[in-house]
Amino acid sequence: MTVARTVLEHAHVVQHDGVVARPLHFAGGRVADSSPYDIRVDLRDHLILPGLINAHDHLQLNAVPPLVHTKPFSSSYAWIETFASHFDDPDVAAAIAVPSAIRHWHGGLKNLLAGATTVAHHDPRHAVLDDDAFPVGLLQRFGWAHSLGLGECRDGGPPRYGPAVKESFAATPRQQPWIIHLAEGTDSGARSELSRLDQMGCLADNTVLVHGIGLSRLDVAQVVDRGAAVVWCPSSNLGMFGITLAPRVLFQARRLSLGTDSRLTGSRDLLAELAVAKTHSDLSARELLRLVTTDASGVLRLPLAGGLAMGQTADCVIVRADAEPFGSLIGRARSDLRAVVRRGVPVIADPDFADWFSQCGVETVSVTLDGAPKLMRRSVVPPQVADLEPGLILG
Ligand SMILES: [Zn+2]
Repeated sequence: MTVARTVLEHAHVVQHDGVVARPLHFAGGRVADSSPYDIRVDLRDHLILPGLINAHDHLQLNAVPPLVHTKPFSSSYAWIETFASHFDDPDVAAAIAVPSAIRHWHGGLKNLLAGATTVAHHDPRHAVLDDDAFPVGLLQRFGWAHSLGLGECRDGGPPRYGPAVKESFAATPRQQPWIIHLAEGTDSGARSELSRLDQMGCLADNTVLVHGIGLSRLDVAQVVDRGAAVVWCPSSNLGMFGITLAPRVLFQARRLSLGTDSRLTGSRDLLAELAVAKTHSDLSARELLRLVTTDASGVLRLPLAGGLAMGQTADCVIVRADAEPFGSLIGRARSDLRAVVRRGVPVIADPDFADWFSQCGVETVSVTLDGAPKLMRRSVVPPQVADLEPGLILG
């Protein structure tokens, strides 16, 4: 594969701060100045948006069947207790028996297919994430614990899962995000978690709280005051608890980002999550675009992701200019994405972009995505991974 100098011409570039008709140059995998180019792609009647940032996922869980339930849970801990018996389900056991590398890769592929080219994976780092062909870019420098309930050390014992809360926070440099599920529920325990976290000395300007539906108005003010942030996962919240947070105050302070969580509890992908976020908030389409690009970049401290300014990573999503530009991804089917580009090179695109792939020296494979023919970079979609993705057929 050649990371060639490329210019995308005649399209409108859409970012939350404006829509501009301009050529977009890529060189060395980054957005470049108007440099000479080897490849020219005519994108008249198209929009180009930055590759999206999914601020919360557990990549390896995306093919595990969700827990069927009829009543809202009171907290994530109640859900975890109930889920324990779900392991007896043969479909769950079969999903978990798939090799871990394949499951992680599948989570990356899920995101890529929806135009989410950068993902915060909230779990131990698996070696497969470092594979050059892995479908998406990942948050690399961060610290994490799972939650207070699973990550606190009690009576000198080890945490139930993941790193110990206090030790992990202390070991994370302040310029890196430190991520933890917090206030994931509606009961008194969930509602008290922010003050417990603060008492432990773990609420700072690099603290990123996932879910936060049990945060009171005063809690939200404290989060903003400390410069901490929240990852909003409305689909997961609504499915598990029947409610989600009101995002406006956190959004105004630029202390909010959007995450899908895994399909075990969350939405199919970030396109679906954007549609749910639109329905369950007062955020405009333009504000939602800011949430999944610039604001996520700020919260997760990923200055190269989430934008198409010179020097940023050349990740983008291309769609036909047949919708209001800022809302052009909201409610959009993933099969309607004309192309998803990573580091200046197409990864999945409609078949009429075959020349672009071949000019980049990318070996492709024909696939069908939700009934639509596509070309994909072959190395991104190993057959065992494709088998896990509903709607994706190789060949
Ligand atoms: Zn998580």
